[in-house]
Amino acid sequence: MNKELVLVTGGSGFVGSYCILELLRQGYRVRTTLRSLQKVEEVKAMLSRGGATNLEDLSFVAADLSQDEGWEEAVRDCTYVLHVASPFPIQSPQDENELIIPAREGTLRVLKAASQAGVTRVVLTSSFAAIGYSIDPKDHVFTEADWTDPAQTKDAYIKSKTLAERAAWDFVKDQKLELTVINPVGIFGPALTHDSSTSLAFVTLILTGQMTESLPFSFGVVDVRDVADLHVRAMTLPQAKGERFLATADGVMNVYTIAQLIRERKPELASQVSRLKPVDLWLQLSNEKAKTVLHWNPRSKEEAILASVESLLDLATVSKDKG
Ligand code: NAP
Repeated sequence: MNKELVLVTGGSGFVGSYCILELLRQGYRVRTTLRSLQKVEEVKAMLSRGGATNLEDLSFVAADLSQDEGWEEAVRDCTYVLHVASPFPIQSPQDENELIIPAREGTLRVLKAASQAGVTRVVLTSSFAAIGYSIDPKDHVFTEADWTDPAQTKDAYIKSKTLAERAAWDFVKDQKLELTVINPVGIFGPALTHDSSTSLAFVTLILTGQMTESLPFSFGVVDVRDVADLHVRAMTLPQAKGERFLATADGVMNVYTIAQLIRERKPELASQVSRLKPVDLWLQLSNEKAKTVLHWNPRSKEEAILASVESLLDLATVSKDKG
């Protein structure tokens, strides 16, 4: 017999699609929101590419984070909600409210609708953006106890994720509705479409030699399949209630170490991969909480990056023949 009904917001996205795949794999019935139902066939094709065989357990509702319509229908009869959708553009918009309003107001819309419908728990996809952008990283190991101060950043995406997560915690303070938050670092792993998430654009730029400068920052890496797995653990395990979890594989990378990894492990691509100046790694992150509390066992950062590379080659987003 099928398990409970779960709403996943943003089924057309990279993380949303893998959450749907994991839920279907575990036997849940899934409903997902799309801004436009014209994307239904495209999303089904993407999920089939990801290995879904039981698409009859998936249904669709149209809903936009910036509007009220559709959310009541979306959450109806759901036991759980994974609120994944949020704008994540490659370039920051001129007006930061283009990201902040759908992120924060959209999160509140989803939470209100979920609360009114008697949903048990919402898992919110936040980000390391809400953790790591105010504390001096020197000699600091980032954990779930850290928060970005939105007043200290001009970056619209970082602000949008921090304000949305803050609003979510404030909202559930006096509610029966349970909340768990996942804070992923840079998400990699296999792409299911040509235009997968902003995070994979980095890999494409390196693979095609279009990344010409060694960016100075270090970042955590996590595989999208492990992010989906963590969302589903966070959804059901009692000990996840009221907690945030930093989702990262062990260690950190930068664009230089990614280029080096691809060159070493895919020598046939070496001549097309960006040649970058070495830069030091300087960020320290802890994934102990997700590992110990939720028994999460993520793939290595190398496996996540190489899975992105393989999938981008398969999708012919980047050419195999330039080398
Ligand atoms: P993505 O592939 O760009 O997916 C974003 C999803 O949000 C899409 O389904 C998109 O729908 C939906 N969306 C955007 N604006 C919306 C709106 N106004 N109303 C309704 N839906 C809207 O990005 P992703 O990487 O999967 O990101 C998913 C979540 O993970 C986001 O919350 C992001 O902040 C978080 N995250 C991502 C990373 C990463 O490295 N990828 C790291 C940390 C956290 P359309 O198809 O209609 O645009």
